[in-house]
Amino acid sequence: MKNLKNALLLKQLYLLKQLGYNYTSLSLFKEDKSFIDLPNTLKKLQEQANECHLCQLSKSRNRVVFGSGNPNADIMFVGEAPSSTEDSTGKAFDGRSGEMLTKMVENVLKIQREDIYVTNIVKCKPINNSKPNATQAHTCQAYLQKEIELIKPKIVVALGEVAYHYLSGDDTELSKIRGNIYKKDKYTLISTYHPTHLLRNPSDKKYVFEDLKSIKELL
Ligand code: URA
Repeated sequence: MKNLKNALLLKQLYLLKQLGYNYTSLSLFKEDKSFIDLPNTLKKLQEQANECHLCQLSKSRNRVVFGSGNPNADIMFVGEAPSSTEDSTGKAFDGRSGEMLTKMVENVLKIQREDIYVTNIVKCKPINNSKPNATQAHTCQAYLQKEIELIKPKIVVALGEVAYHYLSGDDTELSKIRGNIYKKDKYTLISTYHPTHLLRNPSDKKYVFEDLKSIKELL
């Protein structure tokens, strides 16, 4: 939440700079409570994210890619960021990596894709499909935290190292911690390889299979 406040403050400072101000006093700023207290429904949260301009990704995006799926899901999958496909369709994991994710969920977990919830660390496509940087991820984190708070999943699956890193604060290599079960306050966190990684390294499917089996047992 601190990052959201900082991003909001920075936005106000840029606005003043554009208006020709060189100096100002921080005491001039009052928190915009209506923004910092994010809405308590997914629909309103999505509407707010659709209007978000708190980081530079908002300048190059076509669509804000909010999470989608079952709002009462027991299991939430968190990816890294939308790619070009999702940037044009507006739906998370809608491209080839989405097809791979659907296969993982339906063939191994035996759950329909529409029964899970899928979202990303950042809701806008990074430039040149690069990894989201820390500022972008931390600014967007408030939306993700609110999605988790509203959906109340029992299990959150981090897809890939970037998602795991921003969800846990731990930057250990994914190959060393994938499949480990971390009990958080309100959910269990487990990580596995990103579907895009599997498209490039099909021989790692066996590890994802193992991780999904652990997830199935937890469910
Ligand atoms: N599409 C997404 O929505 N997220 C990813 O991490 C990759 C592709």
